[in-house]
Order: sequence, then C-alpha cells, then structure tokens
Amino acid sequence: MKTIGVLTSGGDSPGMNSAIRSVVRTCAHYDKKCIGIVRGFSGLIENNTKILNTRSVRGIINRGGTFLYSARCEEFKTKAGRSQAHENLKKAEIDGLIVIGGDGSFTGAMLLEKEFGFPVVGIPGTIDNDLFGTTHTLGYDTALNTVMDAIDKIRDTAISHHRLFLVEVMGADAGYIALNSGLAIGAQEILIPEVNMSFDNLINSLKTSKKSGKTSSIIVVAEGDKTGKNVFDLASKIEDTLPRYETRVSVLGHIQRGGSPTCFDRVLGTQLGVRAVESLIENNHGLMIGINSGKITFTPLNKAIKGKTKINKELLRMSKIMNT
Ligand code: ATP
Repeated sequence: MKTIGVLTSGGDSPGMNSAIRSVVRTCAHYDKKCIGIVRGFSGLIENNTKILNTRSVRGIINRGGTFLYSARCEEFKTKAGRSQAHENLKKAEIDGLIVIGGDGSFTGAMLLEKEFGFPVVGIPGTIDNDLFGTTHTLGYDTALNTVMDAIDKIRDTAISHHRLFLVEVMGADAGYIALNSGLAIGAQEILIPEVNMSFDNLINSLKTSKKSGKTSSIIVVAEGDKTGKNVFDLASKIEDTLPRYETRVSVLGHIQRGGSPTCFDRVLGTQLGVRAVESLIENNHGLMIGINSGKITFTPLNKAIKGKTKINKELLRMSKIMNT
C-alpha cells in the first residue's frame, strides 16, 4: 500500500474536511502518498485528481462542506462507469481508496471491491446517521446543533403569536435528527418514521397541552414521517380538526447540512481518518470505520448499508414525560 486515494461522495456533511485532513496527515505520517479525488465518483471517472500533502489541508478543519467537493454520479451505477473508474485508479497507481459518504456511496465502494478486488474503506459521512455499525456519522452532531439553534429561534415567534409550529427536519427515512433535536428543544411531539404515533394521538396530545395552559407548541417532524402526506398536508389536517390553532410550517432544509463542524464532529473525523488509513495499511478493507461508546468499530460495508443503529425509543418515552 504505497498510495491511498480519498474522496467524498453523496450529500456533504460537516466534519468531512476533518476526515480528509486526517487521512492526508496520517498518510504522511506513514510515508504514503495521498491522492484526493475531486467530486466523488465523477472525479474517478473523469480522472480529476490532485496530490495532497500535509500543507494542502491546512485551515480546513473548521470549515463545513468538503474541500474535495462532492457529487452524485449516475455513471458510477453502471459497470462501464465503474470499469473506467478502476482503470483510472490503476493508472494513478492508487492501491487503496477511502470513501467518505453515506449508504449510496458505500454501495458503489463495495462494487469496486467485489468486481475488481480493489481495496476500499468507508468513513460514514452523512447528517442522517442512518448507517449500521456506528452510533454517530460525521455531520450528525453538527446538524443536531444547527436544528436546535434554528428551532430555538422559531420558538420565539411561536410564543409571541401563540402559534403551533410544525418544523420539518432532514434525516431521509430515519428519525435520529428529529428525535434528538426534538428532545433538546422540548417539542410537544416528535414524529419519526420508525414509530407511528397516529394522527388521533397527535390531536389528543395537542388538546391535552391546550387544556394544561400551553399557548404555543412545536412539533418536530422527520422528513420521512408518514403521519401526513407531507408536513403541509399534516398542518392543514390539524387546522381542520382544531380550527382554534394557528398553525405554521417551517421546513429547515439545507441549512442543516452546512456550517462549521462541532468539536464532536472534528474529533470524530480525525479518529476515523487515522483508523481508515491504518486499516488499509494493515490490509483490512471492505469495511466501514465507525464509533460506538468512544471505541472505534469495524463493520463490513454490506452490513453497514443494510441496517441502521436502532432508534432509542426510550428518548420518545422521556419526551412524553417532559410534556405532561
Ligand atoms: P447521503 O446519505 O448524504 O445521501 P449517499 O452516499 O447515500 O449520501 P447517494 O446519492 O445515495 O448518497 O450516493 C452517492 C453516489 O454513490 C451516487 O451518486 C453514485 O455515484 C454512488 N452510488 C449510489 N448507489 C449506487 C449503486 N447502487 N451502485 C453504484 N454506485 C452507487
């Protein structure tokens, strides 16, 4: 293993830069050459690469986004696209590849291993936290803090106008962001795809809170939740059922992906980057490097993409205790 490639793919997430920096500097530490691939798998197919040394990655640990840029690359989903990518890897004399991304990126990485025997290691980089084998993905903690700050601001206007706010947060078909941010902001209810609370139960909860003297409320809705067709449909159904509620919807959107990474994500990126390089050097590949209770974990890529870390339903129960 003389030369290691690194790329970021899929949705960007805060902390990716910390992981890139760590990969580059760990390569330097072990006297390996490091090549950055620009714009994910597209850059592999287009041969868009640059040599990275310790100085190339200065001043990026505090920046959101990804210094190597990211992309969604349809061509990589075809065998021809992956063949071209493999040819370019060989031409560049890259011996192993570190892919920083989510489940889609890991599916592509796995195919590189399976079809061409090319060594890959994955670093979980997605705000959704929807991979099995790690309790935290890079960017999840920052996204949680961004959501918490945003909803704190929404709360000011909710209180001033006696309004009910439905705030939709990201997470694809997982409820991690909604559940944890909901608990942190004191949501009246948290709607996540993993648990169907039912429209009737939601209405009962709102009625009870009104009776107890609450004049404004926040409901955090995960984007994958199915209580309504979407958050706007849900808001209008609530207003139809409880006409005295003045309801507003806020979809937080892409702000959740941006911003300077939290301390947690910077440290996590550093840890995962070091172990990813060391894993390739040790000839351990086809796996994702993750974290659980402060310990580094190694999960085969096929397992990482198939499952999810179980949602902590205890948090939902506790959220209800907070809102009685
Ligand atoms: P996020 O969780 O932030 O969406 P992701 O890695 O899951 O990140 P995707 O858009 O699903 O993001 O995937 C990123 C890229 O991975 C795709 O654009 C494609 O190049 C590659 N990819 C995804 N699925 C496959 C597949 N089935 N076969 C080969 N490559 C794939």
